[in-house]
Amino acid sequence: MITLDSSYSTQTLTPERIWLNCLKIIKENVSPMAYSTWFLPIKPVGCQNNILMVELPGNFHWEWIEEHYKSLITKALKSAAGDEAKLEYVVVNDFEQEPEKTKAHQSQQPVKKQENSFFPQQKPVEKIKNSLNPKYTFDNFIKGEGNQLARAAAGAISENPGGTAFNPFFVYGGVGLGKTHLIQAIGNEILLKLPGKKIIYLSSDQFTVEFLDSIQNNKANEFSAYYRAMDVLILDDIQFLIHKEKTQEYFFNIFNTLHQSGKQIILSSDKAPKDLKGMDERLISRFHWGLQADIQPPDYETRIAILSKKANDFGIAISNEILEYIATNITSNIRELEGCLIKLLANVSLNSKEITLELVKKSVREISTSKKINIGIDIITKITCEFLSVEENKVRDKTRKQEVVLARQLSMYLSKELTKSSLKTIGLHFGGRDHSTVIHACSTIDLLLQKDKSFKETLVSIKNKIELACS
Ligand code: ADP
Ligand code: MG
Repeated sequence: MITLDSSYSTQTLTPERIWLNCLKIIKENVSPMAYSTWFLPIKPVGCQNNILMVELPGNFHWEWIEEHYKSLITKALKSAAGDEAKLEYVVVNDFEQEPEKTKAHQSQQPVKKQENSFFPQQKPVEKIKNSLNPKYTFDNFIKGEGNQLARAAAGAISENPGGTAFNPFFVYGGVGLGKTHLIQAIGNEILLKLPGKKIIYLSSDQFTVEFLDSIQNNKANEFSAYYRAMDVLILDDIQFLIHKEKTQEYFFNIFNTLHQSGKQIILSSDKAPKDLKGMDERLISRFHWGLQADIQPPDYETRIAILSKKANDFGIAISNEILEYIATNITSNIRELEGCLIKLLANVSLNSKEITLELVKKSVREISTSKKINIGIDIITKITCEFLSVEENKVRDKTRKQEVVLARQLSMYLSKELTKSSLKTIGLHFGGRDHSTVIHACSTIDLLLQKDKSFKETLVSIKNKIELACS
């Protein structure tokens, strides 16, 4: 209950004093947790003509207060500073900005300022970037034996997110089999049917990067609160959280909050939960709460159906003989089926070539030899460490022993050379090191390669082993 009398005047009170009086009232009306999360970070910064200016640490903070505590703050302010009192807010920053920008603004003037009576009606920026790619829909997802269960569950979830037994929904399977497509299609379908739902899609790598940025900027609470406020959280490639204990811990808490409040959680992984070695057991047990559905490589009929549909979408006419040739020779990966068609399309449109069986055979051969795009940082690290007889987990911790440092630097170097991962992502795989460490590792290895012929041979042998393992 709000009890303070309204004998205060903004002329006689400092902003700090007014805000303190507001806080007294607010404290009596909210839980201690809400008080310290949402109200303590607010700073009074000025007071003029019956207007109290307060600084909020971010847009998300503002949105939360606007949604949940607007009337409480209004009443508190009127009690603390009189009926005429108004509030002007200043939003300093938010954690979604580039880290450089965030730092740059911290000691400067606030970046956003909006004048209005009390809280403005219009949002300062559109906050929820769901990152869904609209091209992934149920319509263009071909059903087959291999994805039947996953597809059916995805449909049910999109009708009733959070309201089915499939929560969390855990989709797993090999690379290029349609996990990302399917889980994004759920998000897109929900957006279509229930446009008010707050949906976020992101890969676990992005999640980790955002989490670490938030820690650096002292915004970990805000980070958590942001994800906890979602109706649907879609996290792709959860295997990237392996060995990232701190990120897993925050994810665990977000998971619990969402699950308890009936919000939908959708996850994908390259392995079944039980095979996620290095993932917190508590998380693994929670992954079992809902439905786990695997996606298997498509059978022959599904491959033909996918090829026909995609050829049609690309606007290229292909004979049955050629479709059958591709479906017989590319068997394990839908991305490769698609890649083959794109190669044919390029030949037809850029080189004005006809699609002959010869041309198709060449494209299929090229796809098989370019399989190294599937090489991942983990397998690089595993093989490099085996080769140098170094324990794999040592390269992720702080050990500075010479042979461990060499294995770490070589793994980083090869990850840069053989994968498309960014320096930041590579650094994260090695115990959360930053990109400058990766740059340093690469230049050290470059120097060694120039100086030492036998080292070069070692590197070539490791590289061959990796490519063999991934072919
Ligand atoms: P994953 O996430 O399992 O590695 P993706 O979802 O990225 O695989 O799928 C790879 C490509 O194959 C994408 O372009 C996707 O649209 C396509 N694809 C996968 N499964 C299907 C399917 N069942 N029907 C149509 N296209 C598919
Ligand atoms: Mg994917």
